[in-house]
Amino acid sequence: MPASNVFLIDHPVIQTKLTELREISTEPRKFRALLNEIASLMVYEVTRSWPTKPRPIHTPMEPMTGCQLARPITLVPILRAGLGMADGVLRLLPDAHLGHLGVRRDEETLLPIAYYQKLPPNIAETEVLLIDPMLATGGSGAAAVTYLKQAGVSAMRFVCLVAAPEGITALHAQHPEIPIYCAAIDRQLNEKGYILPGLGDAGDRLFGT
Ligand code: URA
Repeated sequence: MPASNVFLIDHPVIQTKLTELREISTEPRKFRALLNEIASLMVYEVTRSWPTKPRPIHTPMEPMTGCQLARPITLVPILRAGLGMADGVLRLLPDAHLGHLGVRRDEETLLPIAYYQKLPPNIAETEVLLIDPMLATGGSGAAAVTYLKQAGVSAMRFVCLVAAPEGITALHAQHPEIPIYCAAIDRQLNEKGYILPGLGDAGDRLFGT
């Protein structure tokens, strides 16, 4: 049972694709395709409670009032593995704008620092999906959320594929109000901060590095 404000998307199609993605023999080309497909499928659940506003239209038969998403959307992939989910999310939300955030660990302080950031100017007025396939220690995720809050973002969801319990705890220790959406909550981290059973290094598997 996930902790509160953690949403585990355990749809059988997503779980089947996730298993294929985890498999060691899945090569980068297939890994990229699967990651984007899963990201697309997750969008339905991630956005389920987004507000809509009325939109008057004319069908060929008569006028009616439909609806549309109330706010513009910004995707913010955390570099570099977050890029692997961006196209999949954009497939469903093609009008979204894209920000980029690079977070790395400072060698001396061991604290995460944002080393690259390029955000749309209106980001504070948008619904933000912060995306990173792996929520491991939670350090870079928490730092990214802090950075986006400083940029004025108030409506934000964290979307990952695989979360470690340690990462969920760490992210929510700093930012308990941020909803976390994931397709799996794995057992634990190893001593190097990799998720077990996980899928290895998502960036390496995506880019063949
Ligand atoms: N980042 C990854 O790519 N994989 C892990 O298991 C942990 C962090």
